[in-house]
Amino acid sequence: MNAIEVNVKNGYKVIVDNGIFDKIPEYALTLADYTTVTIVSDSNVAPLYIERLKKGFLRANKRVLTYVIEAGEQSKNLSNYAAILSFLANNDFKRKDLLVALGGGVVGDLTGFVASTYHRGVDFIQVPTTLLAGIDSSVGGKTAVDIKEGKNLVGAFYQPKGVFFDIETLNTLPEKEMINGFGELVKYGILMGGTLWKNLLSDNLSLENCIADSIRYKAEIVEKDEFDNGVRALLNLGHTLAHSVENLSGYTVPHGLAVGYGIRRIAKACKNNGLLQNSEYEQIINVLDKFSLTYIAPFSDNALIRASVKDKKAFADSINIIVINAIGNCSIQKFKLDKLGEFFND
Ligand code: ADP
Ligand code: ZN
Repeated sequence: MNAIEVNVKNGYKVIVDNGIFDKIPEYALTLADYTTVTIVSDSNVAPLYIERLKKGFLRANKRVLTYVIEAGEQSKNLSNYAAILSFLANNDFKRKDLLVALGGGVVGDLTGFVASTYHRGVDFIQVPTTLLAGIDSSVGGKTAVDIKEGKNLVGAFYQPKGVFFDIETLNTLPEKEMINGFGELVKYGILMGGTLWKNLLSDNLSLENCIADSIRYKAEIVEKDEFDNGVRALLNLGHTLAHSVENLSGYTVPHGLAVGYGIRRIAKACKNNGLLQNSEYEQIINVLDKFSLTYIAPFSDNALIRASVKDKKAFADSINIIVINAIGNCSIQKFKLDKLGEFFND
């Protein structure tokens, strides 16, 4: 079992293992003496896992409520947020009770945001069931919903009391969602280098070790910069172009694939500008290909750059890009907007 500490002000543990699902209620109930537990999940995950989770809490004589949203990013909205708040209030869910997010990033972000504001903050735990949520969004305390003006535009920094990731739940995850998570996994590999990168290059990699390494890396960054004013920006590797791709495609390209493309493109620019060695560039391309991150965006560099500039504040004259100097050595580099085109020029 991997138990990774996230040492922020209200620190917590991320438990990662195979086959711990039925133990999660037991772990959660060591946190405090809750009366009611509300499990939020989505329409794909609930039929697979909600009863199993519920059972453990019932066995411990807790009152258990469940709330199921429709699966999909469109559910991460203010009306579901308000509906869950009303559901909790109408069901006498109290300030000292526990919310559980059972699902991928959509459920995690939405439930976390509810937790951050209901009664000015209630305890919540994350039970991620996607690779993307397990290695990325469930750790670090970013919660949010989307509004029509932008994704994740409304939210809060609010840390969970614990994250419990049973890797076995990935067995039911559709292949394309797995690939989506690989986008973030390769990102962590390039940021961290070392054992994680070796594992990604290897022919018989241990997914569990990859996941644990990614979370360890993320935890360290979050500890240094919980509120995203400095080094946490490193986690945006590949994301500036990815956001442009998502935007220009009308959000039809999944996040992880867009991140894969963003990494591919930034790696090439870093190589062409003499920052990154050719041999490491080739390793990156091979790893992206190996993890089926082969999507190539049909947009010109110019269009992507224009979109990313628009994505930032309209008045900014520069933009931070995460550059790859070497595997395991990335840095935040500020570019004047009019110099960005040059950097990406082949
Ligand atoms: P992400 O975690 O990538 O941010 P979602 O929360 O939307 O995104 O999850 C991706 C999709 O996978 C959703 O349709 C969700 O219902 C489904 N899903 C999540 N976990 C599992 C699982 N363990 N088994 C099957 N489907 C799952
Ligand atoms: Zn991401």
